[in-house]
Amino acid sequence: MANYDYLVVGAGLFGATFAYEAAKRGKRVKVIEKDNRISGHIYTEEKDGIQVHKFGAHIFHTSNKKVWQFVQQFAEFNRYTNSPIANYKGELYNLPFNMNTFNKMWGVVTPEQAKAKIDQQRQVLGDKRPQNLEEQAISLIGTDVYQKLIKGYTEKQWGRKATDLPAFIIRRLPVRYIYDNNYFNDPYQGIPIGGYTQIVEQLLKSPLIDIELNTDFFANKDHYLADYPRIIFTGMIDQYFDYQLGELEYRGLRFEEEELPVGNYQGNAVVNYTDAETPYTRIIEHKHFDFGKGDKNKTIITREYPQTWHRGDEPYYPVNDKRNNSLFKRYRELAAQQSKVVFGGRLGQYKYYNMDQVIDAAEKLVAREFGKTGE
Ligand code: UDP
Repeated sequence: MANYDYLVVGAGLFGATFAYEAAKRGKRVKVIEKDNRISGHIYTEEKDGIQVHKFGAHIFHTSNKKVWQFVQQFAEFNRYTNSPIANYKGELYNLPFNMNTFNKMWGVVTPEQAKAKIDQQRQVLGDKRPQNLEEQAISLIGTDVYQKLIKGYTEKQWGRKATDLPAFIIRRLPVRYIYDNNYFNDPYQGIPIGGYTQIVEQLLKSPLIDIELNTDFFANKDHYLADYPRIIFTGMIDQYFDYQLGELEYRGLRFEEEELPVGNYQGNAVVNYTDAETPYTRIIEHKHFDFGKGDKNKTIITREYPQTWHRGDEPYYPVNDKRNNSLFKRYRELAAQQSKVVFGGRLGQYKYYNMDQVIDAAEKLVAREFGKTGE
């Protein structure tokens, strides 16, 4: 075995960012990946001249200038602005919740009228401080928007009642009293021209980094622990500890991709189906992430079906409710006792991270490992 300084388990964005920074500092890194490809869930693949987001829509957005500058090194980003449409039983609304949504919902025209309507509807809560997603949503945008645009989507997405979900999930979405359909408040936003896979390829291209695909850490855990001085583990933290404290819950997904003989299927990159009956949450039409690309007579769409997750399925979302968060805290205590192993990423840190937060978390680990000056 070569003298590696690090073993990185998982070639997703967290592992790749760490490996890149370590190699930049002259460290030798082995990356192992259970799948037959790098990039984890940000993986994109070209088809008919279109970058297909194989694991759902990934729109890069951040308020962190350093992170934005970091990713610019590996791709040119277009000026895509996410403005999804919600389809509720054939009625279309703009997202996020803004004056366009309120105008369509109630015919209100001014911010004052919209506020009055929402204030009136949130009275159902009385003086109660919002305790769960449903109450948080009603307190932010009232009962009508909640019933038509949130309840059905949320309960499909998470497979449980909105009253059993944490409030923070709905606070991911802005509420705006201006006519602005931009889904994000971040000053920086875009999609990498040429896709995401190239970013991870470049992060891992150093001659100091060796990658081994189709390699399961758990098949040889003891050897890895014995052979490597330091391990960055980006898989599921509960699996690492052999589920000894119990299982953390995840939400699964199934993607149904279809090529259609039309140039433009839905007129927008993202359309959410917010009723309870439609079995998928959203349809993405990949060509609209990158203006003017691809065949004029063809398009590729992907329907996203949330799935109950069982051990062994691909985990997509941590379910950060009270039970899981307190279980995770106990796993984190075990993790703190591991002198060789550090846990990172959505699965290792059991956090509903966006891409920029993953990079930021990896950079924080880099600072801890190598010090602020870089060594
Ligand atoms: N959400 C909703 N209606 C929508 C879009 C989102 O109720 O049309 C809620 C839902 O609970 C979802 C959460 O907002 O889980 C966060 O949405 P986001 O788009 O950030 O989810 P992601 O893209 O990470 O799946």
